[in-house]
Amino acid sequence: MKSTLAFLGTAFVLLACQPSHTDAPPPPPRAVWSLAIHGGAGLFGEEDLSAAQQQAYTASLDAALSWGQAQLDQGASAVDVVEGVVRLMEDDSLFNAGRGAVFTSEGTHELDASIADGTSRNCGAVTGLQGFRHPISVARAVMDSSEHVFFSGHGAGVFAAAQGAETAEPAWFDTQKAYSRYRRAAKRAGDEPVPLEEKRGTVGCVAMDMEGHLAAATSTGGMTYKRHGRIGDSPIVGAGTWADNRTCAISATGWGEYFIRTGVAQDIHGRMLHGKQSLQEACEASIFDEMGALGGDGGVVAVDALGQVALVFNSTGMFRASAIKQGQDVARDVAMFGPYAR
Ligand code: ASP
Repeated sequence: MKSTLAFLGTAFVLLACQPSHTDAPPPPPRAVWSLAIHGGAGLFGEEDLSAAQQQAYTASLDAALSWGQAQLDQGASAVDVVEGVVRLMEDDSLFNAGRGAVFTSEGTHELDASIADGTSRNCGAVTGLQGFRHPISVARAVMDSSEHVFFSGHGAGVFAAAQGAETAEPAWFDTQKAYSRYRRAAKRAGDEPVPLEEKRGTVGCVAMDMEGHLAAATSTGGMTYKRHGRIGDSPIVGAGTWADNRTCAISATGWGEYFIRTGVAQDIHGRMLHGKQSLQEACEASIFDEMGALGGDGGVVAVDALGQVALVFNSTGMFRASAIKQGQDVARDVAMFGPYAR
């Protein structure tokens, strides 16, 4: 009897010491919808872009954001919005995706893209695609209309053609900026490596729609002077792109090899699902302590199941924009430079 009382007493003390549920801060209310985009990360600062260039990037990011925002407000699905935003950016020659894509060492364009739907946890991707105007829509067709998730090179083109994807002549993708970078890289080849700031400009988008569904999309020409057949992180679901309604949607940009080596997008998801980290904590740990610790650079745009947004990078700059609707209010932000304050 005495020992039973002692046991009950101890149990009472232990229970009384547990934090009650009311001690935990209540989770923030879910946003109505959220949207974040990037136009590439790299080693650039304010001094590297003229006022006119800064204005042009701001206008492009703003236009893509506004389009996605209007769609989400009308109830469009996250997966349609991320595809649509990336299509717009693929047509924008400022960015290294679709029109404006960088050149490979052979003077061609090999395009990579992927899309992920956090509701079905389905995904689609293409790598080394040539001659199609919207690689992201080919990736969408892989997700929606094939039993596979990833097509490469010639096979990706055969699939795209069978799906009726819009074609484009090689010249459609060419821009003077990408060509000059290619020429500078070609001159340097064999002597010194191409500076990182000459290489990048991937585009990506993540969204949470009114239903609370998440999606992510990423599209790129890769890195200037990449070797024929080189695959970066952008078309690799788990490295450059991820979406799962339970945790987050991620689109990455940066030095792809490092994002693949540390599986950045899936690492962030795993930290949230298994490690119970917040979106912000998970993104910072993955970018700084994993990918960055190996020597890579770049960043992610990310959204979680409550519509919180994280824009995290360890490069000096990342073209980025976000819009979050809470109640009737929309908070918007467009930015380019860093440094990112952890
Ligand atoms: N991550 C891309 C790649 O490695 C490049 C970029 O984001 O700019 O192909």
